[in-house]
Amino acid sequence: MVENKFFNEVNGNFGFGCMRLPMNGDEVDNDEFCKMIDAFIEAGFNYFDTAHGYINGKSELAIGKCLSERYDRSKFLLANKLTAPYFDKKEDIRPFFENQLKWCKVDYFDFYLMHAQGKGNYPKFQECKAYETAYELKQEGKIKHLGLSFHDRPEVLEQILRDHPEVEFVQIQFNYVDYENPSVESRAVYEVCKKYKKPVIVMEPVKGGSLVHLPEKASIILKQLESGSNANIAIRFSASFPQMAVVLSGMSDWKQMQDNLKAMKDFKPLSEQEMEAVAKVQNIVNELNAVPCTACSYCVEENHCPKQIRIPDMFEALNNYKVFNNEKMVGYYNNMLIKDGHGKASECIACGQCEAVCPQHLQIRAHLQTVAETFE
Ligand code: SF4
Ligand code: SF4
Repeated sequence: MVENKFFNEVNGNFGFGCMRLPMNGDEVDNDEFCKMIDAFIEAGFNYFDTAHGYINGKSELAIGKCLSERYDRSKFLLANKLTAPYFDKKEDIRPFFENQLKWCKVDYFDFYLMHAQGKGNYPKFQECKAYETAYELKQEGKIKHLGLSFHDRPEVLEQILRDHPEVEFVQIQFNYVDYENPSVESRAVYEVCKKYKKPVIVMEPVKGGSLVHLPEKASIILKQLESGSNANIAIRFSASFPQMAVVLSGMSDWKQMQDNLKAMKDFKPLSEQEMEAVAKVQNIVNELNAVPCTACSYCVEENHCPKQIRIPDMFEALNNYKVFNNEKMVGYYNNMLIKDGHGKASECIACGQCEAVCPQHLQIRAHLQTVAETFE
């Protein structure tokens, strides 16, 4: 276990992400969750991460029952988040926060994050003085460390960190496939964190499970290393960067917990040979991408698309679906990409305005037909 350089109270560099938990039908399997918590703490770790939206509020309740009720408060650290849909004005934030404490059965959160910050959400957090309210809560001792989780371009993060120097840490999506992925820009976002000297919490080190099910050509390369499972290598990759404080992994069963602990209990950064193998896997994945979109967003800026179709996000979802057989992309497309006035791929009227500005000269209209055939 490595010594954590950023927050003395964090044991090791591995965190229990509670977005996905063991389930019995629609309910959290508390027995299994308790067993996993025990193994995690037994292995020497103490960082747990939740949010009200995880499993529709059931993640917080399960933490209350399986963690807070069973362990002394000094034995674990809990991170929770303020999420945009749960407040409309400044006055809503405190009551929501107090409820989160009650649901989790704690008196304070060790880490509290402004959730899913980016161009879309940040203005609302600003208008409602969310950062200021959280900072007050910190001064009252109800939050130990204030941070944010981030899903956007590096320049947006830079703006937020300039506006809010009180932010102590940043949670980012970081894995070896998204490292140079133009839609996610993990590396560039990580560099901003480094520049502002913010410790980083990693989310999605296994890309929502995608890096467990690699294309065969890629899987063979990792297997030859004899360094453990695909998930092990993905998690160790993210933890190998010096600014990383904690790598979170969402584990939904005992087997995954055991597998993850194997990689993180006596953590070693990836060796040169392992890094080279990962670079080969990155290349294979890039070659398999169905649409070589660089996510520059020119096609969706300045109302180029009269149907407000989220072209780069749809191409990213299509690539994830095709390369990793990631079935979750179907739900992502139907629940996230075609709401709030954004058109479906099949609603494209073939005006061609997007193609006129695409620097990659992509046949966007034809690719959107594939998107429609795949997801609708
Ligand atoms: S061709 Fe389709 S996707 Fe492109 S701008 Fe027109 S409506 Fe939008
Ligand atoms: S302009 Fe082309 S490369 Fe840029 S996001 Fe749109 S489709 Fe992708």
